[in-house]
Amino acid sequence: MEFIDSFVERLEDILYFVRHLSISAQDYGKLGENVCVAKIESVFSDEPILIYVSALIVDGSGSESDLIIIVTHKQEKIAEHTINFYNGEITYNPDQGTYEPGSAETLETNHLSEFLEELEEEIRQRLPNLTEKVNWQPDEGVDPYANLPCNECGEFTVNVDQRVGEIGRCATCGEHHELTNCMRCDGYIEGKDGFCDNCISYIERQ
Ligand SMILES: [Zn+2]
Ligand SMILES: [Zn+2]
Repeated sequence: MEFIDSFVERLEDILYFVRHLSISAQDYGKLGENVCVAKIESVFSDEPILIYVSALIVDGSGSESDLIIIVTHKQEKIAEHTINFYNGEITYNPDQGTYEPGSAETLETNHLSEFLEELEEEIRQRLPNLTEKVNWQPDEGVDPYANLPCNECGEFTVNVDQRVGEIGRCATCGEHHELTNCMRCDGYIEGKDGFCDNCISYIERQ
């Protein structure tokens, strides 16, 4: 259905730059009650967020119908949004013998943008990356991250602190790195034995 496809696409756009999350549209076939239309997964969690849609579309002119978006995490409802459809926004699909709501654009009056904003916040709170989970502040002493960029996302968040999580895992995107220690200063480097960039330039200056 056009409305649901564009809703999932908009959520995809919103989450595009969130490196540890991925959203996949589910094959839902025909709409009915509580049909799963999308799944949001985090590389840091085994518990996806699921998006369901319940369509209560009533036949007949002048009638009002509801489409309810329900978002769950760990079997718990974390967000819900109801969209009312009026007669003019419903079209008949002769192939399936069903009535369908109109496009997302024509339904903006139902505060869909606000709902998407709230939903993004809820998703990021429920499925944080490790930097958000630990919320490490620079003045708290030891830096939990190695002084090298992640191979995948480029952030300087490759974890070296057991309290944060697995050593060598990027806290932003989840990429794994093989870390060893610099033979001169003991700082973290990637791959096999050798020196860190600082020590290489120091040695070259000697
Ligand atoms: Zn990364
Ligand atoms: Zn070094």
